[in-house]
Amino acid sequence: MDPPLTKKPKSTHRVSACSQLHLPDSRLTLDLVWTAEIEGNEMENQMIGELDPSYYVNQLQPVLHAAETRPIEFVSVYISDVSNLKLISKIIAYLGTYYPLDSLSHLKRIRKVQTEDPNVWRTQILVGLVSVLQTHSESQKAILKDIYGLILQEYQVPRYEPLMKAQYESWTKTWPITLKAHIPSTPSPMEAFSTESIQHFVSCMRRLIPLATEAGNACMILAPSGLELSTVASTSDTVLSHCCINLITLVANHQLKESNNTQYTHHKRNSVDHAPDPKPIDYLCNGCTVLVVREPCIMCSMALLHSRVACVIYAVPNPSSGGLGSRFSIHCETRLNHHFHVYKGLLQHEVPISAD
Ligand SMILES: [Zn+2]
Repeated sequence: MDPPLTKKPKSTHRVSACSQLHLPDSRLTLDLVWTAEIEGNEMENQMIGELDPSYYVNQLQPVLHAAETRPIEFVSVYISDVSNLKLISKIIAYLGTYYPLDSLSHLKRIRKVQTEDPNVWRTQILVGLVSVLQTHSESQKAILKDIYGLILQEYQVPRYEPLMKAQYESWTKTWPITLKAHIPSTPSPMEAFSTESIQHFVSCMRRLIPLATEAGNACMILAPSGLELSTVASTSDTVLSHCCINLITLVANHQLKESNNTQYTHHKRNSVDHAPDPKPIDYLCNGCTVLVVREPCIMCSMALLHSRVACVIYAVPNPSSGGLGSRFSIHCETRLNHHFHVYKGLLQHEVPISAD
């Protein structure tokens, strides 16, 4: 479950609502959901002048794939000085045939190492993985020494390909690396959002925090245009009643109603001989942004993934059960068929510290 943000009596099922929604009575209020040109827009406009976008941009931390943030890990290889530089092209060709780098293809084969004399450089060559050379016969390894003059010495190099520039700059100091183009799983906020969008997110999150403080957690869904579609504040001991699940349920119910109304209208307009032509509607939360105070749990994260959200922004991590960066990073799991962007930390310092 989503842990409460402040100490409050344990409840088995508690749902409160803000704006125009109340999930248990959703049939009474759904008509208002999607047409709501929220009153909050006026308040947000008043606040825009007070906000410094760069301050909030720095709070938005992209939640990246684990491979994009992992520290350096080493693997043992054999390297050697190349004493006869006239042979270097032949050595490279030989090693390419009999000692391909394969899993170490991010590493360059050759490096230059400065000696005590700043004008003199040694040339070193990466021969191959220790684990691979150990499987070769002594006669094979003798060729390296007898024909090419290579004296093997064990060395540690980065095991994995760096994906982010920060990784590259650190890891390439141990052995030269070829940096390939990589699109981050979540781009930097400056690349992803306009100043106006960030100001809008800040305003929305400021409205959610008091709701979450009272109810346990609160979330809001914004259409691709930025229009607020609905807001839910809730907590529950049952994961099926977490606020993100409730939010998606509202959207699904509304879309179902929209679809039924459209079909009914077409059915009345067309003759009985023609099948109704349903109007295409968006697929659940396609392209939408969800703002939530506390990082969604694993189940809510999967629900958001299935609903095809484009982006989730949360204020406070959920170390015990968070599915978007803390326990798992479901949004960038390569084995799943939908991916979305996640940012954390927006207004985190304004959220009351959990009593847990
Ligand atoms: Zn949840």
